[in-house]
Amino acid sequence: MTNIRQVYNWINGEYVPASNGETFDVTTPISQELIAEVSESTQEDADRAVAAAREAFDNGPWGKLTVKERSDKLRRMAEIIIERAEEIGTLDAMDVGKPIRNTVQGGEVDRSANNISFFADYAEMMHGEAFPMGKDYINYTTYDPVGVSVLITPWNIPFMLTTWKLGPALAAGNTVVIKPPEVTPLSVALLGEIAKEAGIPDGVVNIVHGKGGVVGNALTSHEAVDLVSFTGSTKTGTIIQQSAANTQKKVSVELGGKAADIIFSDADLKKAVPGAIRAAYTNTGQVCLAGSRLLVQEDILDAFLEAFVAEAKAFKVGDPNDVDTDMGPIVSEDQFQKVSSYIDWAKDNGLEILAGGKRPDNLPEEISEGYYLEPTIILAPDPNSKINQEEIFGPVVSVIPFQTEEEAIKIVNNSIYGLDGVIWTENLAKAHRVAHEIKAGTIWINDWFVRDLRVPFGGAKQSGNGREGGRFSMEFFTEAKNICIRIKD
Ligand code: NAD
Repeated sequence: MTNIRQVYNWINGEYVPASNGETFDVTTPISQELIAEVSESTQEDADRAVAAAREAFDNGPWGKLTVKERSDKLRRMAEIIIERAEEIGTLDAMDVGKPIRNTVQGGEVDRSANNISFFADYAEMMHGEAFPMGKDYINYTTYDPVGVSVLITPWNIPFMLTTWKLGPALAAGNTVVIKPPEVTPLSVALLGEIAKEAGIPDGVVNIVHGKGGVVGNALTSHEAVDLVSFTGSTKTGTIIQQSAANTQKKVSVELGGKAADIIFSDADLKKAVPGAIRAAYTNTGQVCLAGSRLLVQEDILDAFLEAFVAEAKAFKVGDPNDVDTDMGPIVSEDQFQKVSSYIDWAKDNGLEILAGGKRPDNLPEEISEGYYLEPTIILAPDPNSKINQEEIFGPVVSVIPFQTEEEAIKIVNNSIYGLDGVIWTENLAKAHRVAHEIKAGTIWINDWFVRDLRVPFGGAKQSGNGREGGRFSMEFFTEAKNICIRIKD
Protein backbone atom coordinates (compact mmCIF):
# COMPACT_ATOMS: atom_id res chain seq x y z
CA MET A 1 0.00 0.00 0.00
CA THR A 2 1.49 3.33 -1.10
CA ASN A 3 1.59 6.29 1.30
CA ILE A 4 -0.84 8.94 0.11
CA ARG A 5 0.99 12.26 -0.06
CA GLN A 6 -0.71 15.52 0.84
CA VAL A 7 0.49 18.13 -1.65
CA TYR A 8 -0.06 21.80 -0.82
CA ASN A 9 0.46 25.09 -2.56
CA TRP A 10 3.67 26.95 -1.73
CA ILE A 11 3.06 30.66 -1.18
CA ASN A 12 5.40 33.20 0.37
CA GLY A 13 7.78 30.56 1.72
CA GLU A 14 5.33 28.10 3.25
CA TYR A 15 3.00 25.25 2.40
CA VAL A 16 -0.67 26.27 2.44
CA PRO A 17 -3.82 24.36 1.51
CA ALA A 18 -6.17 25.74 -1.15
CA SER A 19 -8.28 28.54 0.31
CA ASN A 20 -11.45 26.45 0.12
CA GLY A 21 -9.70 23.31 1.43
CA GLU A 22 -10.51 21.35 -1.76
CA THR A 23 -8.18 18.68 -3.15
CA PHE A 24 -8.02 16.47 -6.23
CA ASP A 25 -6.70 12.91 -6.47
CA VAL A 26 -3.56 11.83 -8.30
CA THR A 27 -3.14 8.15 -9.17
CA THR A 28 -0.07 6.35 -10.47
CA PRO A 29 -0.21 5.00 -14.04
CA ILE A 30 1.84 2.04 -12.80
CA SER A 31 -1.16 0.47 -11.08
CA GLN A 32 -3.95 3.08 -10.85
CA GLU A 33 -3.37 3.33 -7.08
CA LEU A 34 -4.11 6.66 -5.38
CA ILE A 35 -0.78 8.31 -4.53
CA ALA A 36 -1.60 11.93 -3.65
CA GLU A 37 -4.27 14.42 -2.69
CA VAL A 38 -3.35 17.79 -4.14
CA SER A 39 -4.66 21.28 -3.34
CA GLU A 40 -7.23 22.34 -5.90
CA SER A 41 -6.65 26.06 -6.14
CA THR A 42 -9.08 28.80 -7.11
CA GLN A 43 -8.88 32.40 -8.25
CA GLU A 44 -8.31 33.36 -4.60
CA ASP A 45 -5.20 31.16 -4.38
CA ALA A 46 -3.89 32.58 -7.66
CA ASP A 47 -4.43 36.08 -6.24
CA ARG A 48 -2.49 35.20 -3.07
CA ALA A 49 0.42 33.68 -4.99
CA VAL A 50 0.60 36.61 -7.40
CA ALA A 51 0.44 39.09 -4.50
CA ALA A 52 3.36 37.30 -2.80
CA ALA A 53 5.40 37.31 -6.02
CA ARG A 54 4.49 40.97 -6.67
CA GLU A 55 5.56 42.06 -3.20
CA ALA A 56 8.80 40.07 -3.45
CA PHE A 57 9.54 41.65 -6.81
CA ASP A 58 8.60 45.23 -5.98
CA ASN A 59 9.89 45.48 -2.41
CA GLY A 60 11.79 42.31 -1.50
CA PRO A 61 15.53 41.70 -1.29
CA TRP A 62 15.76 39.55 -4.46
CA GLY A 63 16.12 42.46 -6.89
CA LYS A 64 18.65 44.21 -4.65
CA LEU A 65 21.12 41.32 -4.67
CA THR A 66 24.10 41.48 -6.98
CA VAL A 67 24.09 39.10 -9.91
CA LYS A 68 26.78 37.05 -8.15
CA GLU A 69 24.73 36.79 -4.96
CA ARG A 70 21.66 35.64 -6.88
CA SER A 71 23.66 33.20 -8.97
CA ASP A 72 25.30 31.70 -5.86
CA LYS A 73 21.87 30.90 -4.44
CA LEU A 74 20.82 29.32 -7.72
CA ARG A 75 23.97 27.19 -7.82
CA ARG A 76 23.12 26.05 -4.29
CA MET A 77 19.61 25.21 -5.52
CA ALA A 78 21.12 23.03 -8.25
CA GLU A 79 23.25 21.22 -5.66
CA ILE A 80 20.18 20.50 -3.53
CA ILE A 81 18.38 19.06 -6.56
CA ILE A 82 21.29 16.66 -7.03
CA GLU A 83 21.29 15.81 -3.32
CA ARG A 84 17.57 15.00 -3.59
CA ALA A 85 17.83 13.27 -6.99
CA GLU A 86 16.64 9.89 -5.72
CA GLU A 87 13.49 11.41 -4.21
CA ILE A 88 12.69 13.58 -7.25
CA GLY A 89 13.37 10.78 -9.74
CA THR A 90 11.28 8.32 -7.77
CA LEU A 91 8.37 10.75 -7.66
CA ASP A 92 8.49 11.23 -11.45
CA ALA A 93 8.71 7.45 -11.94
CA MET A 94 5.61 6.96 -9.79
CA ASP A 95 3.68 9.97 -11.09
CA VAL A 96 4.54 9.96 -14.81
CA GLY A 97 5.54 6.29 -15.17
CA LYS A 98 9.07 7.12 -16.39
CA PRO A 99 11.64 4.33 -16.12
CA ILE A 100 13.74 5.12 -13.07
CA ARG A 101 16.90 4.74 -15.11
CA ASN A 102 15.87 7.76 -17.19
CA THR A 103 15.13 9.96 -14.21
CA VAL A 104 17.67 9.42 -11.47
CA GLN A 105 20.73 7.80 -12.91
CA GLY A 106 22.31 10.43 -15.10
CA GLY A 107 19.01 11.46 -16.60
CA GLU A 108 16.38 14.13 -16.16
CA VAL A 109 17.25 15.14 -12.61
CA ASP A 110 20.85 15.93 -13.60
CA ARG A 111 19.58 17.97 -16.51
CA SER A 112 17.17 19.80 -14.16
CA ALA A 113 20.00 20.81 -11.83
CA ASN A 114 21.98 21.88 -14.86
CA ASN A 115 19.04 24.02 -16.05
CA ILE A 116 19.43 26.06 -12.87
CA SER A 117 23.23 26.22 -12.59
CA PHE A 118 23.69 26.91 -16.31
CA PHE A 119 21.55 30.07 -16.15
CA ALA A 120 23.17 31.13 -12.88
CA ASP A 121 26.52 31.08 -14.68
CA TYR A 122 25.03 32.62 -17.82
CA ALA A 123 23.59 35.62 -15.92
CA GLU A 124 27.06 36.43 -14.62
CA MET A 125 28.36 36.69 -18.17
CA MET A 126 25.61 39.00 -19.44
CA HIS A 127 26.37 42.60 -20.28
CA GLY A 128 24.62 45.64 -21.72
CA GLU A 129 25.63 47.68 -24.77
CA ALA A 130 26.59 51.29 -25.41
CA PHE A 131 25.60 53.27 -28.54
CA PRO A 132 27.47 56.59 -28.64
CA MET A 133 25.94 59.33 -30.87
CA GLY A 134 29.10 61.19 -31.73
CA LYS A 135 30.04 63.60 -28.95
CA ASP A 136 26.47 64.69 -28.27
CA TYR A 137 24.71 61.75 -26.65
CA ILE A 138 25.42 58.29 -25.41
CA ASN A 139 22.92 55.46 -25.15
CA TYR A 140 23.41 52.49 -22.91
CA THR A 141 21.21 49.45 -22.66
CA THR A 142 20.35 47.45 -19.57
CA TYR A 143 18.52 44.12 -19.30
CA ASP A 144 16.10 44.38 -16.40
CA PRO A 145 13.93 41.60 -14.98
CA VAL A 146 10.40 41.66 -16.38
CA GLY A 147 8.54 41.13 -13.09
CA VAL A 148 6.10 38.46 -11.93
CA SER A 149 6.49 35.48 -14.23
CA VAL A 150 3.99 32.65 -14.54
CA LEU A 151 5.49 29.29 -15.54
CA ILE A 152 3.11 26.60 -16.82
CA THR A 153 4.34 23.15 -17.81
CA PRO A 154 2.93 19.85 -19.13
CA TRP A 155 2.76 16.42 -17.49
CA ASN A 156 5.29 14.55 -19.63
CA ILE A 157 8.59 15.92 -18.23
CA PRO A 158 7.33 18.01 -15.34
CA PHE A 159 10.41 18.66 -13.20
CA MET A 160 12.91 19.13 -16.02
CA LEU A 161 10.66 21.44 -18.05
CA THR A 162 9.79 23.58 -15.03
CA THR A 163 13.46 24.08 -14.11
CA TRP A 164 14.15 24.94 -17.77
CA LYS A 165 11.99 28.04 -17.20
CA LEU A 166 12.75 28.62 -13.54
CA GLY A 167 16.53 28.84 -14.08
CA PRO A 168 16.49 31.82 -16.48
CA ALA A 169 13.48 33.46 -14.79
CA LEU A 170 15.26 33.62 -11.43
CA ALA A 171 18.74 34.27 -12.83
CA ALA A 172 17.34 37.37 -14.55
CA GLY A 173 15.89 38.59 -11.24
CA ASN A 174 12.19 37.84 -11.71
CA THR A 175 9.84 36.33 -9.15
CA VAL A 176 7.63 33.43 -10.22
CA VAL A 177 4.35 31.62 -9.79
CA ILE A 178 4.51 28.03 -11.02
CA LYS A 179 1.36 26.16 -12.11
CA PRO A 180 2.43 22.49 -12.23
CA PRO A 181 0.61 20.00 -14.47
CA GLU A 182 -2.35 18.59 -12.54
CA VAL A 183 -1.75 15.08 -13.91
CA THR A 184 1.82 14.90 -12.53
CA PRO A 185 2.37 17.60 -9.89
CA LEU A 186 4.44 15.76 -7.29
CA SER A 187 8.07 16.54 -8.15
CA VAL A 188 7.42 20.18 -9.12
CA ALA A 189 5.70 20.67 -5.75
CA LEU A 190 9.14 20.41 -4.09
CA LEU A 191 10.68 23.38 -5.88
CA GLY A 192 9.49 25.94 -3.31
CA GLU A 193 11.13 24.25 -0.34
CA ILE A 194 14.27 23.58 -2.40
CA ALA A 195 14.48 27.30 -3.27
CA LYS A 196 14.01 28.23 0.38
CA GLU A 197 16.70 25.79 1.50
CA ALA A 198 19.03 27.42 -1.03
CA GLY A 199 18.45 30.82 0.63
CA ILE A 200 16.15 32.28 -2.01
CA PRO A 201 13.87 34.78 -0.20
CA ASP A 202 10.23 33.98 0.52
CA GLY A 203 7.81 35.09 -2.16
CA VAL A 204 10.31 34.67 -5.01
CA VAL A 205 9.09 31.16 -5.86
CA ASN A 206 5.39 30.34 -5.43
CA ILE A 207 3.47 27.28 -6.56
CA VAL A 208 -0.28 26.86 -7.03
CA HIS A 209 -1.75 23.52 -8.00
CA GLY A 210 -5.01 22.89 -9.77
CA LYS A 211 -6.87 22.78 -13.04
CA GLY A 212 -5.48 24.69 -15.99
CA GLY A 213 -8.85 26.16 -16.94
CA VAL A 214 -9.34 27.51 -13.41
CA VAL A 215 -6.15 28.51 -11.62
CA GLY A 216 -4.04 28.49 -14.81
CA ASN A 217 -6.46 30.88 -16.46
CA ALA A 218 -6.60 33.03 -13.32
CA LEU A 219 -2.82 33.44 -13.57
CA THR A 220 -2.49 34.07 -17.30
CA SER A 221 -5.22 36.75 -17.25
CA HIS A 222 -4.02 38.34 -13.98
CA GLU A 223 -3.38 42.08 -14.10
CA ALA A 224 -0.38 41.87 -11.76
CA VAL A 225 1.41 39.24 -13.86
CA ASP A 226 3.97 40.51 -16.38
CA LEU A 227 5.04 37.41 -18.28
CA VAL A 228 3.82 33.89 -19.11
CA SER A 229 6.12 31.09 -20.18
CA PHE A 230 4.10 28.08 -21.32
CA THR A 231 4.94 24.59 -22.53
CA GLY A 232 2.05 22.31 -23.46
CA SER A 233 -0.41 21.56 -26.21
CA THR A 234 -1.09 23.80 -29.19
CA LYS A 235 -4.75 24.04 -28.17
CA THR A 236 -3.94 25.36 -24.68
CA GLY A 237 -1.18 27.61 -26.07
CA THR A 238 -3.78 29.38 -28.18
CA ILE A 239 -6.12 29.89 -25.21
CA ILE A 240 -3.25 31.21 -23.09
CA GLN A 241 -2.12 33.73 -25.66
CA GLN A 242 -5.67 35.04 -25.89
CA SER A 243 -6.01 35.23 -22.13
CA ALA A 244 -2.64 36.97 -21.66
CA ALA A 245 -3.37 39.50 -24.38
CA ASN A 246 -5.72 41.52 -22.18
CA THR A 247 -2.78 43.08 -20.33
CA GLN A 248 -0.11 42.79 -23.05
CA LYS A 249 1.99 40.32 -21.08
CA LYS A 250 5.12 38.91 -22.60
CA VAL A 251 4.21 35.36 -23.70
CA SER A 252 6.25 32.47 -25.01
CA VAL A 253 4.66 29.16 -26.00
CA GLU A 254 6.39 25.83 -26.68
CA LEU A 255 3.76 23.54 -28.16
CA GLY A 256 3.06 20.19 -29.81
CA GLY A 257 5.01 18.36 -32.48
CA LYS A 258 4.81 15.61 -35.07
CA ALA A 259 8.45 15.13 -35.96
CA ALA A 260 9.55 13.13 -38.96
CA ASP A 261 12.45 10.74 -38.66
CA ILE A 262 13.82 10.33 -42.21
CA ILE A 263 15.82 7.20 -42.96
CA PHE A 264 17.63 7.52 -46.29
CA SER A 265 18.83 4.38 -48.04
CA ASP A 266 22.47 5.35 -47.40
CA ALA A 267 21.91 5.55 -43.62
CA ASP A 268 23.99 3.39 -41.33
CA LEU A 269 21.24 1.14 -40.01
CA LYS A 270 23.33 0.13 -37.00
CA LYS A 271 22.90 3.73 -35.81
CA ALA A 272 19.57 4.59 -37.42
CA VAL A 273 17.52 1.69 -36.05
CA PRO A 274 18.33 2.19 -32.34
CA GLY A 275 18.17 5.97 -32.91
CA ALA A 276 14.70 5.76 -34.40
CA ILE A 277 13.61 3.43 -31.59
CA ARG A 278 14.80 5.95 -29.00
CA ALA A 279 13.06 8.80 -30.84
CA ALA A 280 9.81 6.84 -31.01
CA TYR A 281 9.54 5.29 -27.55
CA THR A 282 11.49 7.39 -25.03
CA ASN A 283 9.12 8.33 -22.20
CA THR A 284 6.54 5.98 -23.77
CA GLY A 285 6.47 8.23 -26.84
CA GLN A 286 5.16 11.08 -24.68
CA VAL A 287 7.76 13.58 -25.86
CA CYS A 288 6.96 16.66 -27.95
CA LEU A 289 10.09 15.87 -30.00
CA ALA A 290 9.18 12.20 -30.59
CA GLY A 291 10.00 10.90 -34.06
CA SER A 292 6.48 9.67 -34.55
CA ARG A 293 6.43 9.77 -38.36
CA LEU A 294 9.04 7.40 -39.68
CA LEU A 295 9.86 8.11 -43.32
CA VAL A 296 11.82 5.24 -44.84
CA GLN A 297 13.31 5.24 -48.37
CA GLU A 298 11.71 2.42 -50.31
CA ASP A 299 14.84 0.50 -51.34
CA ILE A 300 15.71 -0.21 -47.69
CA LEU A 301 12.16 -0.50 -46.37
CA ASP A 302 12.25 -4.28 -45.81
CA ALA A 303 15.71 -4.34 -44.22
CA PHE A 304 14.92 -1.37 -42.00
CA LEU A 305 11.54 -2.67 -40.88
CA GLU A 306 12.90 -6.13 -40.11
CA ALA A 307 15.44 -4.64 -37.68
CA PHE A 308 13.13 -1.92 -36.32
CA VAL A 309 10.24 -4.30 -35.62
CA ALA A 310 12.60 -6.79 -33.95
CA GLU A 311 13.97 -4.08 -31.62
CA ALA A 312 10.51 -2.80 -30.78
CA LYS A 313 9.31 -6.31 -29.99
CA ALA A 314 12.31 -6.88 -27.73
CA PHE A 315 11.40 -3.87 -25.61
CA LYS A 316 10.72 -4.57 -21.95
CA VAL A 317 7.48 -2.83 -21.03
CA GLY A 318 6.64 -2.77 -17.34
CA ASP A 319 7.17 -1.29 -13.92
CA PRO A 320 9.28 1.89 -14.25
CA ASN A 321 10.88 1.18 -10.87
CA ASP A 322 12.56 -1.88 -12.34
CA VAL A 323 15.98 -0.86 -13.72
CA ASP A 324 15.58 -3.27 -16.66
CA THR A 325 12.39 -1.60 -17.87
CA ASP A 326 12.69 0.10 -21.28
CA MET A 327 9.23 1.63 -21.32
CA GLY A 328 6.72 2.39 -18.56
CA PRO A 329 2.97 2.96 -18.79
CA ILE A 330 1.09 5.78 -20.52
CA VAL A 331 0.49 8.60 -18.03
CA SER A 332 -3.27 8.36 -17.47
CA GLU A 333 -6.47 6.65 -18.48
CA ASP A 334 -7.47 9.62 -20.66
CA GLN A 335 -4.17 9.50 -22.52
CA PHE A 336 -4.37 5.70 -22.82
CA GLN A 337 -7.84 6.00 -24.37
CA LYS A 338 -6.65 8.73 -26.72
CA VAL A 339 -3.65 6.72 -27.93
CA SER A 340 -5.74 3.55 -28.26
CA SER A 341 -8.29 5.41 -30.36
CA TYR A 342 -5.61 6.03 -33.03
CA ILE A 343 -4.73 2.33 -33.09
CA ASP A 344 -8.45 1.48 -33.44
CA TRP A 345 -8.72 4.02 -36.25
CA ALA A 346 -5.76 2.40 -38.03
CA LYS A 347 -7.31 -1.07 -37.70
CA ASP A 348 -10.73 0.16 -38.84
CA ASN A 349 -9.09 1.71 -41.90
CA GLY A 350 -7.28 -1.47 -42.87
CA LEU A 351 -3.75 -0.31 -42.00
CA GLU A 352 -1.19 -2.97 -41.21
CA ILE A 353 -0.04 -3.12 -37.56
CA LEU A 354 3.56 -4.32 -37.78
CA ALA A 355 4.11 -4.57 -34.02
CA GLY A 356 2.25 -3.91 -30.78
CA GLY A 357 -1.17 -2.32 -30.89
CA LYS A 358 -2.25 -3.96 -27.62
CA ARG A 359 -1.51 -4.24 -23.92
CA PRO A 360 1.42 -6.56 -23.14
CA ASP A 361 0.51 -10.10 -22.13
CA ASN A 362 1.60 -11.43 -18.75
CA LEU A 363 1.94 -8.20 -16.80
CA PRO A 364 2.67 -9.03 -13.15
CA GLU A 365 -0.47 -9.02 -10.99
CA GLU A 366 0.55 -5.93 -8.97
CA ILE A 367 0.72 -3.72 -12.07
CA SER A 368 -1.95 -5.41 -14.17
CA GLU A 369 -4.28 -2.39 -13.84
CA GLY A 370 -1.66 0.07 -15.21
CA TYR A 371 -1.91 1.78 -18.59
CA TYR A 372 0.65 -0.26 -20.50
CA LEU A 373 0.84 -0.52 -24.28
CA GLU A 374 3.34 -2.38 -26.43
CA PRO A 375 5.58 -0.31 -28.75
CA THR A 376 3.35 0.02 -31.78
CA ILE A 377 4.33 0.32 -35.44
CA ILE A 378 1.74 1.05 -38.10
CA LEU A 379 2.36 1.06 -41.84
CA ALA A 380 0.54 4.23 -42.88
CA PRO A 381 1.57 5.24 -46.41
CA ASP A 382 -0.87 8.17 -46.81
CA PRO A 383 0.91 11.27 -45.41
CA ASN A 384 -2.43 13.08 -45.18
CA SER A 385 -4.08 10.48 -43.00
CA LYS A 386 -5.19 11.40 -39.49
CA ILE A 387 -2.51 9.18 -38.00
CA ASN A 388 0.22 11.12 -39.82
CA GLN A 389 -1.23 14.54 -39.15
CA GLU A 390 -2.30 14.53 -35.48
CA GLU A 391 -0.04 14.39 -32.45
CA ILE A 392 -0.70 10.99 -30.83
CA PHE A 393 1.70 11.42 -27.88
CA GLY A 394 2.14 7.75 -27.08
CA PRO A 395 4.24 4.73 -28.11
CA VAL A 396 2.90 4.68 -31.67
CA VAL A 397 4.97 5.28 -34.77
CA SER A 398 3.62 5.42 -38.32
CA VAL A 399 5.80 4.32 -41.22
CA ILE A 400 5.62 6.26 -44.51
CA PRO A 401 7.69 4.87 -47.41
CA PHE A 402 9.14 7.44 -49.87
CA GLN A 403 11.25 7.34 -53.04
CA THR A 404 13.13 10.60 -53.51
CA GLU A 405 14.69 13.34 -51.40
CA GLU A 406 12.20 15.89 -52.79
CA GLU A 407 9.28 13.64 -51.91
CA ALA A 408 10.59 13.19 -48.36
CA ILE A 409 10.89 16.96 -47.84
CA LYS A 410 7.37 17.48 -49.14
CA ILE A 411 5.96 14.87 -46.77
CA VAL A 412 7.88 16.20 -43.77
CA ASN A 413 6.66 19.75 -44.30
CA ASN A 414 3.08 18.61 -44.82
CA SER A 415 2.23 19.25 -41.18
CA ILE A 416 0.84 22.03 -39.05
CA TYR A 417 3.74 21.34 -36.66
CA GLY A 418 7.41 22.30 -36.97
CA LEU A 419 9.16 21.45 -33.74
CA ASP A 420 11.99 19.17 -34.89
CA GLY A 421 13.14 16.74 -37.53
CA VAL A 422 15.66 13.91 -37.71
CA ILE A 423 17.76 12.86 -40.73
CA TRP A 424 19.71 9.62 -41.05
CA THR A 425 22.19 9.50 -43.94
CA GLU A 426 25.93 9.03 -44.44
CA ASN A 427 25.87 11.65 -47.20
CA LEU A 428 26.79 14.95 -45.54
CA ALA A 429 25.78 17.16 -48.45
CA LYS A 430 22.34 15.55 -48.54
CA ALA A 431 22.01 15.92 -44.77
CA HIS A 432 22.66 19.68 -44.96
CA ARG A 433 20.43 20.10 -48.02
CA VAL A 434 17.47 18.42 -46.39
CA ALA A 435 18.06 20.10 -43.01
CA HIS A 436 17.76 23.50 -44.70
CA GLU A 437 14.48 22.55 -46.37
CA ILE A 438 12.67 21.28 -43.26
CA LYS A 439 10.53 23.92 -41.56
CA ALA A 440 11.27 23.21 -37.91
CA GLY A 441 13.06 24.72 -34.94
CA THR A 442 15.58 21.89 -34.47
CA ILE A 443 17.08 19.36 -36.87
CA TRP A 444 19.18 16.44 -35.69
CA ILE A 445 21.43 14.59 -38.14
CA ASN A 446 22.31 10.99 -37.25
CA ASP A 447 21.10 11.39 -33.68
CA TRP A 448 18.11 12.62 -31.67
CA PHE A 449 17.51 14.74 -28.55
CA VAL A 450 21.11 15.87 -28.13
CA ARG A 451 20.90 19.06 -26.09
CA ASP A 452 23.27 21.95 -25.51
CA LEU A 453 21.64 24.52 -23.22
CA ARG A 454 23.12 27.43 -25.22
CA VAL A 455 21.29 26.67 -28.46
CA PRO A 456 17.84 27.97 -29.43
CA PHE A 457 15.05 25.51 -28.72
CA GLY A 458 11.49 26.03 -29.93
CA GLY A 459 8.97 25.45 -32.64
CA ALA A 460 8.09 26.78 -36.06
CA LYS A 461 4.50 26.89 -37.36
CA GLN A 462 1.95 25.68 -34.77
CA SER A 463 4.68 24.21 -32.56
CA GLY A 464 5.03 27.55 -30.86
CA ASN A 465 6.68 30.91 -30.89
CA GLY A 466 9.77 32.15 -29.14
CA ARG A 467 12.91 30.23 -28.31
CA GLU A 468 14.39 28.95 -25.07
CA GLY A 469 18.03 28.30 -24.25
CA GLY A 470 21.07 30.50 -23.50
CA ARG A 471 20.64 34.09 -24.60
CA PHE A 472 17.21 33.32 -26.08
CA SER A 473 15.80 32.54 -22.62
CA MET A 474 17.58 35.50 -21.04
CA GLU A 475 16.18 37.87 -23.65
CA PHE A 476 12.68 36.61 -22.97
CA PHE A 477 12.97 36.89 -19.20
CA THR A 478 14.40 40.42 -19.35
CA GLU A 479 13.21 43.80 -20.56
CA ALA A 480 15.80 45.64 -22.65
CA LYS A 481 15.90 49.27 -21.56
CA ASN A 482 17.77 52.06 -23.31
CA ILE A 483 19.07 55.03 -21.36
CA CYS A 484 20.02 58.05 -23.48
CA ILE A 485 22.27 60.75 -21.93
CA ARG A 486 22.95 64.18 -23.32
CA ILE A 487 26.63 64.95 -22.94
CA LYS A 488 26.98 68.04 -25.12
CA ASP A 489 26.88 71.44 -23.43
P1 NAD B 1 -1.86 20.84 -21.88
O1 NAD B 1 -1.80 21.97 -22.83
O2 NAD B 1 -3.15 20.13 -21.70
O3 NAD B 1 -1.45 21.34 -20.40
C1 NAD B 1 -0.23 21.97 -20.16
C2 NAD B 1 -0.39 22.83 -18.91
O4 NAD B 1 -1.29 23.88 -19.18
C3 NAD B 1 -0.92 22.10 -17.69
O5 NAD B 1 -0.23 22.53 -16.54
C4 NAD B 1 -2.35 22.55 -17.64
O6 NAD B 1 -2.91 22.54 -16.36
C5 NAD B 1 -2.25 23.98 -18.14
N1 NAD B 1 -3.48 24.53 -18.70
C6 NAD B 1 -4.48 23.88 -19.33
N2 NAD B 1 -5.45 24.76 -19.70
C7 NAD B 1 -5.05 26.00 -19.29
C8 NAD B 1 -5.61 27.30 -19.38
N3 NAD B 1 -6.78 27.53 -19.97
N4 NAD B 1 -4.91 28.32 -18.85
C9 NAD B 1 -3.71 28.12 -18.27
N5 NAD B 1 -3.13 26.90 -18.15
C10 NAD B 1 -3.80 25.85 -18.65
O7 NAD B 1 -0.70 19.88 -22.29
P2 NAD B 1 -0.36 18.43 -21.69
O8 NAD B 1 -1.39 17.47 -22.16
O9 NAD B 1 -0.09 18.58 -20.24
O10 NAD B 1 1.06 18.14 -22.39
C11 NAD B 1 1.21 17.54 -23.61
C12 NAD B 1 1.49 18.57 -24.70
O11 NAD B 1 2.64 19.33 -24.36
C13 NAD B 1 1.81 17.93 -26.04
O12 NAD B 1 1.11 18.61 -27.04
C14 NAD B 1 3.30 18.12 -26.19
O13 NAD B 1 3.76 18.14 -27.50
C15 NAD B 1 3.49 19.43 -25.51
N6 NAD B 1 4.89 19.61 -25.10
C16 NAD B 1 5.65 20.52 -25.78
C17 NAD B 1 7.00 20.69 -25.46
C18 NAD B 1 7.87 21.69 -26.20
O14 NAD B 1 8.96 22.00 -25.71
N7 NAD B 1 7.44 22.20 -27.34
C19 NAD B 1 7.57 19.93 -24.43
C20 NAD B 1 6.76 19.01 -23.77
C21 NAD B 1 5.42 18.86 -24.12
